[in-house]
Amino acid sequence: METYGSELPLFLHDGESCFPTGRADSPISLTGPYPGLVSNNVIDAFLLNAERIGHGIEFAKLPDLAQLYAEEGIPLEICPISNQILGYVTDLRDHPAVTLMRSGVRISLNPDDPAIFGYTGVTHDWTAAVLAWDLSLSEVKRLIVNSIEDAGMTDDEKDELMTVWQTEWDEFILRIVEEGAIDSGYWTNPEAA
Ligand SMILES: [Zn+2]
Repeated sequence: METYGSELPLFLHDGESCFPTGRADSPISLTGPYPGLVSNNVIDAFLLNAERIGHGIEFAKLPDLAQLYAEEGIPLEICPISNQILGYVTDLRDHPAVTLMRSGVRISLNPDDPAIFGYTGVTHDWTAAVLAWDLSLSEVKRLIVNSIEDAGMTDDEKDELMTVWQTEWDEFILRIVEEGAIDSGYWTNPEAA
Protein backbone atom coordinates (compact mmCIF):
# COMPACT_ATOMS: atom_id res chain seq x y z
CA MET A 1 0.00 0.00 0.00
CA GLU A 2 2.84 2.37 0.90
CA THR A 3 4.62 1.53 -2.33
CA TYR A 4 1.55 2.47 -4.33
CA GLY A 5 0.90 5.59 -2.26
CA SER A 6 -2.56 4.41 -1.25
CA GLU A 7 -4.07 5.34 2.11
CA LEU A 8 -7.12 3.16 1.66
CA PRO A 9 -7.65 0.99 4.74
CA LEU A 10 -7.32 -2.73 4.04
CA PHE A 11 -10.63 -4.49 4.72
CA LEU A 12 -9.76 -8.02 3.60
CA HIS A 13 -12.20 -10.86 3.01
CA ASP A 14 -10.26 -13.66 4.68
CA GLY A 15 -10.52 -16.84 6.66
CA GLU A 16 -13.85 -17.91 5.17
CA SER A 17 -13.13 -21.58 4.80
CA CYS A 18 -13.89 -24.96 6.27
CA PHE A 19 -10.59 -26.63 5.54
CA PRO A 20 -9.83 -29.29 8.12
CA THR A 21 -7.32 -28.36 10.78
CA GLY A 22 -3.59 -28.86 10.15
CA ARG A 23 -1.94 -32.25 10.32
CA ALA A 24 1.06 -32.94 12.54
CA ASP A 25 3.27 -33.62 9.52
CA SER A 26 2.17 -30.49 7.69
CA PRO A 27 2.62 -27.46 9.92
CA ILE A 28 1.13 -24.12 9.08
CA SER A 29 3.54 -22.01 7.07
CA LEU A 30 3.42 -18.77 5.17
CA THR A 31 4.05 -20.38 1.80
CA GLY A 32 2.60 -23.12 -0.36
CA PRO A 33 -0.93 -23.63 -1.62
CA TYR A 34 -2.58 -25.06 1.48
CA PRO A 35 0.13 -25.90 3.99
CA GLY A 36 -1.35 -27.49 7.05
CA LEU A 37 -4.70 -27.31 5.26
CA VAL A 38 -5.42 -24.01 6.98
CA SER A 39 -5.98 -21.01 4.76
CA ASN A 40 -3.04 -18.69 5.23
CA ASN A 41 -4.68 -15.51 4.15
CA VAL A 42 -5.55 -14.58 7.74
CA ILE A 43 -1.83 -14.69 8.49
CA ASP A 44 -1.06 -12.60 5.41
CA ALA A 45 -3.78 -10.12 6.37
CA PHE A 46 -2.16 -9.56 9.77
CA LEU A 47 1.26 -9.05 8.18
CA LEU A 48 -0.28 -6.57 5.72
CA ASN A 49 -1.71 -4.53 8.64
CA ALA A 50 -5.30 -5.13 7.61
CA GLU A 51 -7.63 -2.87 9.58
CA ARG A 52 -10.59 -5.19 9.36
CA ILE A 53 -11.26 -8.78 8.25
CA GLY A 54 -14.29 -10.14 6.43
CA HIS A 55 -15.18 -13.39 8.24
CA GLY A 56 -12.00 -14.70 9.93
CA ILE A 57 -13.80 -17.79 11.21
CA GLU A 58 -10.62 -19.81 10.53
CA PHE A 59 -9.22 -18.22 13.70
CA ALA A 60 -10.92 -20.95 15.64
CA LYS A 61 -8.10 -23.20 14.32
CA LEU A 62 -5.38 -20.61 14.95
CA PRO A 63 -5.73 -19.50 18.58
CA ASP A 64 -2.31 -17.83 18.74
CA LEU A 65 -3.13 -15.74 15.69
CA ALA A 66 -6.57 -14.96 17.12
CA GLN A 67 -4.82 -13.66 20.23
CA LEU A 68 -2.69 -11.35 18.09
CA TYR A 69 -5.84 -10.01 16.42
CA ALA A 70 -7.42 -9.54 19.85
CA GLU A 71 -4.39 -7.64 21.14
CA GLU A 72 -4.31 -5.40 18.07
CA GLY A 73 -8.08 -4.88 18.19
CA ILE A 74 -8.48 -5.87 14.53
CA PRO A 75 -12.20 -6.46 14.02
CA LEU A 76 -13.85 -9.42 12.31
CA GLU A 77 -17.01 -9.11 10.23
CA ILE A 78 -19.00 -12.14 11.31
CA CYS A 79 -21.81 -13.31 9.00
CA PRO A 80 -23.84 -15.97 10.83
CA ILE A 81 -26.51 -16.78 8.24
CA SER A 82 -24.10 -16.80 5.32
CA ASN A 83 -21.76 -19.12 7.21
CA GLN A 84 -24.60 -21.53 7.84
CA ILE A 85 -26.01 -21.40 4.29
CA LEU A 86 -22.56 -21.97 2.81
CA GLY A 87 -21.82 -24.83 5.19
CA TYR A 88 -19.01 -23.38 7.28
CA VAL A 89 -21.03 -24.14 10.38
CA THR A 90 -23.82 -26.71 10.49
CA ASP A 91 -25.35 -25.45 13.74
CA LEU A 92 -25.21 -21.73 14.57
CA ARG A 93 -24.87 -22.57 18.26
CA ASP A 94 -21.41 -23.96 17.40
CA HIS A 95 -20.30 -20.86 15.48
CA PRO A 96 -16.70 -20.01 16.43
CA ALA A 97 -17.52 -16.30 16.70
CA VAL A 98 -18.92 -16.75 20.20
CA THR A 99 -15.70 -18.20 21.55
CA LEU A 100 -13.64 -15.63 19.65
CA MET A 101 -15.75 -12.77 20.99
CA ARG A 102 -15.64 -14.03 24.57
CA SER A 103 -11.88 -14.47 24.36
CA GLY A 104 -11.37 -10.84 23.39
CA VAL A 105 -11.51 -10.73 19.58
CA ARG A 106 -13.49 -7.73 18.29
CA ILE A 107 -16.42 -8.80 16.14
CA SER A 108 -19.47 -7.25 14.51
CA LEU A 109 -22.47 -8.85 12.80
CA ASN A 110 -22.86 -8.55 9.03
CA PRO A 111 -25.00 -10.08 6.26
CA ASP A 112 -22.24 -11.04 3.75
CA ASP A 113 -24.27 -11.72 0.57
CA PRO A 114 -27.91 -10.85 1.42
CA ALA A 115 -28.91 -10.19 -2.19
CA ILE A 116 -27.90 -13.73 -3.13
CA PHE A 117 -29.62 -15.18 -0.08
CA GLY A 118 -32.80 -13.21 -0.72
CA TYR A 119 -32.94 -10.77 2.18
CA THR A 120 -31.87 -7.24 3.02
CA GLY A 121 -30.35 -5.63 6.09
CA VAL A 122 -28.90 -7.34 9.14
CA THR A 123 -32.02 -8.10 11.17
CA HIS A 124 -32.00 -11.82 10.34
CA ASP A 125 -28.34 -12.17 11.28
CA TRP A 126 -28.92 -10.35 14.55
CA THR A 127 -31.95 -12.46 15.43
CA ALA A 128 -30.08 -15.68 14.66
CA ALA A 129 -27.02 -14.61 16.66
CA VAL A 130 -28.93 -13.39 19.72
CA LEU A 131 -30.92 -16.62 19.92
CA ALA A 132 -28.22 -19.13 18.96
CA TRP A 133 -25.46 -17.58 21.07
CA ASP A 134 -27.60 -16.67 24.06
CA LEU A 135 -26.15 -13.15 24.02
CA SER A 136 -26.43 -10.96 27.09
CA LEU A 137 -27.59 -7.37 26.78
CA SER A 138 -24.07 -6.10 27.36
CA GLU A 139 -22.79 -8.37 24.57
CA VAL A 140 -25.51 -7.07 22.22
CA LYS A 141 -24.49 -3.52 23.09
CA ARG A 142 -20.81 -4.29 22.52
CA LEU A 143 -21.57 -5.78 19.09
CA ILE A 144 -23.56 -2.70 18.07
CA VAL A 145 -20.87 -0.30 19.27
CA ASN A 146 -18.24 -2.35 17.44
CA SER A 147 -20.35 -2.17 14.26
CA ILE A 148 -20.39 1.61 14.40
CA GLU A 149 -16.79 2.12 15.52
CA ASP A 150 -15.39 -0.31 12.93
CA ALA A 151 -17.54 0.88 10.01
CA GLY A 152 -15.94 2.34 6.92
CA MET A 153 -17.36 5.81 7.65
CA THR A 154 -15.74 9.11 8.54
CA ASP A 155 -15.38 10.00 12.23
CA ASP A 156 -18.11 12.63 11.86
CA GLU A 157 -20.49 10.07 10.35
CA LYS A 158 -19.71 7.63 13.16
CA ASP A 159 -20.34 10.30 15.81
CA GLU A 160 -23.67 11.15 14.23
CA LEU A 161 -24.73 7.51 14.00
CA MET A 162 -23.59 6.80 17.57
CA THR A 163 -25.70 9.70 18.87
CA VAL A 164 -28.80 8.48 17.03
CA TRP A 165 -28.22 4.90 18.13
CA GLN A 166 -27.56 5.80 21.79
CA THR A 167 -30.91 7.60 22.02
CA GLU A 168 -32.76 4.61 20.57
CA TRP A 169 -30.83 2.16 22.75
CA ASP A 170 -31.67 4.10 25.91
CA GLU A 171 -35.35 4.10 24.92
CA PHE A 172 -35.16 0.35 24.25
CA ILE A 173 -33.63 -0.35 27.67
CA LEU A 174 -36.26 1.81 29.38
CA ARG A 175 -39.03 0.02 27.46
CA ILE A 176 -37.94 -3.51 28.34
CA VAL A 177 -37.59 -2.53 31.99
CA GLU A 178 -41.05 -0.95 32.00
CA GLU A 179 -42.61 -3.87 30.14
CA GLY A 180 -41.19 -6.36 32.60
CA ALA A 181 -39.06 -8.24 30.08
CA ILE A 182 -36.31 -8.29 32.68
CA ASP A 183 -38.59 -10.04 35.18
CA SER A 184 -39.44 -12.64 32.54
CA GLY A 185 -35.80 -13.67 32.70
CA TYR A 186 -35.09 -13.22 29.01
CA TRP A 187 -32.70 -10.30 29.38
CA THR A 188 -30.61 -10.82 32.45
CA ASN A 189 -28.29 -7.88 32.93
CA PRO A 190 -29.90 -4.53 32.09
CA GLU A 191 -27.64 -2.73 34.56
CA ALA A 192 -24.63 -3.70 32.41
CA ALA A 193 -26.25 -2.23 29.34
ZN1 LIG B 1 -18.08 -13.83 2.31
